Amino acid sequence: DQVTVRTALLSVSDKTGIVDLARQLHEKGIRLVSTGGTHKALSEAGLPVDDVSELTGFPEVMDGRVKTLHPGVHGGLLAIRDDAEHVEAMTKHGITGIDLAVINLYPFEEVRAKGEDYPTTVENIDIGGPAMIRASAKNHAYVTILTDPADYGVLVEELASGTTSFAFRRTMAAKAYARTAAYDTAISSWFAEVLDTPMPRHRTIGGVLKEEMRYGENPHQKAAFYVTGENRPGVATATLLQGKQLSYNNINDTDAAFELVAEFPADQGPACAIIKHANPCGVATGSTLLEAYSRALACDSTSAFGGIIALNQTLDAATAEEIVKLFTEVIIAPEVSDEAKAIIARKVNLRLLVTGALPDPRVPGLTAKTVAGGLLVQTRDNGMVEDLELKVVTKRAPSAQELIDMKFAFRVAKHVKSNAVVYAKNGQTVGIGAGQMSRVDSVRIAAIKAEEAAKTLGLPKPLTIGSAVASEAFLPFADGLLSAVAAGATAVIQPGGSMRDDEVIAAADEAGIAMVFTGMRHFRH
Ligand code: 5GP
Repeated sequence: DQVTVRTALLSVSDKTGIVDLARQLHEKGIRLVSTGGTHKALSEAGLPVDDVSELTGFPEVMDGRVKTLHPGVHGGLLAIRDDAEHVEAMTKHGITGIDLAVINLYPFEEVRAKGEDYPTTVENIDIGGPAMIRASAKNHAYVTILTDPADYGVLVEELASGTTSFAFRRTMAAKAYARTAAYDTAISSWFAEVLDTPMPRHRTIGGVLKEEMRYGENPHQKAAFYVTGENRPGVATATLLQGKQLSYNNINDTDAAFELVAEFPADQGPACAIIKHANPCGVATGSTLLEAYSRALACDSTSAFGGIIALNQTLDAATAEEIVKLFTEVIIAPEVSDEAKAIIARKVNLRLLVTGALPDPRVPGLTAKTVAGGLLVQTRDNGMVEDLELKVVTKRAPSAQELIDMKFAFRVAKHVKSNAVVYAKNGQTVGIGAGQMSRVDSVRIAAIKAEEAAKTLGLPKPLTIGSAVASEAFLPFADGLLSAVAAGATAVIQPGGSMRDDEVIAAADEAGIAMVFTGMRHFRH
């Protein structure tokens, strides 16, 4: 299964490491053939290299749109070397066998990310490159295909004997198809963006492998992180300033935390979200970031142990000093001050991520989850309570403060697993009930958590007294509402739309509370 390499075709846009590799190939007596720019780079380095037109008998034309799309190249890549008819065709048409192809593509992804103009982006769709990559990979019985400069070193080791092994060629072929698939995925998602239709039937979904993790949700599961190239600040694009590599669960929770805190734009004041198992255990705003953090922590300081902290502004020294007092897994913030960095550095394992910016909660995008044998994709929930027309359905209208508290609670409820119930007061969650199969249980659990928090804080009464409560989906019966009233809530915000809305409204009127309907549901499963 060893194949001797005699001729190599090198055609790369990313020229990283190409001269070094070509020199090593040349030293092994391998003939080098290249396209325009690559040819120039190699000959400038003093290497003997043939122009691809020697294989095609045809010049590069149309600004490079047609360089290698020729039987002289594709015959050389696709010929079955021990098939008599193939060999005869090679001889008859003067086709040289190509044993090694080193190709990387026009940088479509980078050009797209830079937001270049339409014609420039289109021009960066590589045609000949993917064709050669796919041809070489198909013929991996005879041809070695390299698409990533990171593999040049392994190739050189492999070639110590002058040959490549079947195992190596097959692994590289698999990687090659992953590359061309990801490339076309990026192109199709760019078209989806251009057409302003996130979910057209002609787009495909996929990502590029970013890193492999030690394990998945549990130690016996394998895991990897793929990035989609979506231009959204967050855990996929963040820089890890310190701490261990992020685990699968860290990435999942950190994403939940940062997407939640991004509901609070930086220019509207500091905000902090603390997350455990993808659910918030406290969210708060404050006049300073320190205050926002302390108030978020107060909601459920027991659960916050080992949590993820997301901030909507530059992490400062005062907040960092407070954060390091508690065991935390990850901090994510748009920026971190130098003093704060020094403070966090005292906790070597604490992971610190910076993103440069907050994601815009209104921007559309896609979310996906797997089901057995499938991938469920939908547009991101980018609905915001601020944009909704709220309908007062009770006799009593909410006070200005109740309205603020209701909106805050509803904003947070959007990020709590269903059934989600959030009590809030003065820009602070005071009780969160998440993930229950019955809504009334979520209402009760949130109230119980608030009672416990009051005990921890040494308060005479739970903070739910005089709070507003949000339910991310309609209250199907009056029982949930009555339970919230019993816990001290004076205002309720919910989508409405239940068969028994009248019953629920009557119960609210009876209790003298204010209730508004949003008309928008925020299920999160
Ligand atoms: P160079 O810098 O060597 O002139 O060009 C290298 C790039 O051209 C590589 O990214 C390769 O994938 C791409 N390429 C090679 N052949 C063709 C072709 O026939 N058409 C197009 N559009 N690109 C090609």
